[in-house]
Amino acid sequence: MTEHRFEFDTLQAFADTLLREAGARAEDAACVAHHLVDANLKGHDSHGVGLLPAYLRHMREDLVNLGSTDRLLQETSVLLQMDADGGWGAPSGFRLIDRAIDKARAEGLAAATIGNVHHLGRIGAYAEKASAAGIASLHFVNVTDHGPLVAPYRGSDARFGTNPVCIGFPAAGKRAPFLLDIATSQIALGKVRVAAARGTQVPTGSLIDEKGLPTTDPSGMAGFELKGALTPMAGHKGYGLAFACEILAGVLSGCGTIQPANPRRGGIQNRMFSILINPDKFGDRAWMDAEIEAMADYALASPLMDWDSPVLYPGDPERAIAGKRRREGIPLHENTVKDLNKAADACNSAARL
Ligand code: NAD
Repeated sequence: MTEHRFEFDTLQAFADTLLREAGARAEDAACVAHHLVDANLKGHDSHGVGLLPAYLRHMREDLVNLGSTDRLLQETSVLLQMDADGGWGAPSGFRLIDRAIDKARAEGLAAATIGNVHHLGRIGAYAEKASAAGIASLHFVNVTDHGPLVAPYRGSDARFGTNPVCIGFPAAGKRAPFLLDIATSQIALGKVRVAAARGTQVPTGSLIDEKGLPTTDPSGMAGFELKGALTPMAGHKGYGLAFACEILAGVLSGCGTIQPANPRRGGIQNRMFSILINPDKFGDRAWMDAEIEAMADYALASPLMDWDSPVLYPGDPERAIAGKRRREGIPLHENTVKDLNKAADACNSAARL
């Protein structure tokens, strides 16, 4: 496999230029570009710059509103409901979280929804923002505007998106912030795409074919559409969480679930339901920090099954990979680089990687 390595700033400048030249407002282009490259930096390449060709297609096909204005459908001291007017995910998503942080700080708790919004990308970034402000957060997300990808438990075709669930808690003593940020499918769609591109197999039990039969062969799967379906993580448990995302994000945002009466224009939209919590309002913070440290020390001291694979604190993998990629550069597969340069060509941009 041939890889090319890039500095964060090089990828950010490339993505920013392409988005601006294709018609995004400067502030939106900067925010979306940073969010994509940050996903690569933290090891989630499925949510990185490799999405740019799809985003540029969405711009050409009017599947993202480039002149959007956030509309607050409702705002109280603890509630926030935002309609992003079909605009970019990251700019509206971060604005929602900023407002919800202020409410949680003041009231102890805030619940917020966002809907009618393009792809929110790596959800962990919103939890990281809250954690950096000392606020814990839970996020439930559904995915619409394209066909479903994930089968329900015991079902044989796709009926759900990869509906991520994310939980963050601020740093406690020597422990950096806790971050659990997971899709509810057994493997991410991006991993199927990567396996298809490389001609490798996917893990047993993670995929079913068009006939609903288990397969490990991802060939021919690309873009946001699948032949067959991904399976939910952990059987009925992942399925239940994916369903919870449809209800909490799809219904409470007022923007809908992935059920087929709702639009599927071939783009990608998210809805997100977030709960933000100010731990300081729940008790003595010094005690909480000490308790989290003690619990983490206890869990991580479990004797290892494999000495090459330590027990990790959720959030540490992203920090470790970000440290490595800051030092060594962000690796992109040569096919991804080719696709990105081709996408630049198609928008008549002189930008190249
Ligand atoms: P993943 O399987 O890589 O799991 C990542 C999470 O698990 C992180 O919180 C990480 O810190 C933790 N983790 C990983 N290895 C660990 C270990 N050994 N010990 C302890 N913790 C560990 O993630 P995924 O399911 O492939 O999801 C990837 C990304 O895709 C996420 O950022 C998610 O938000 C994003 N996503 C977005 C959408 C969307 O529509 N916007 C949809 C699906 C997924």
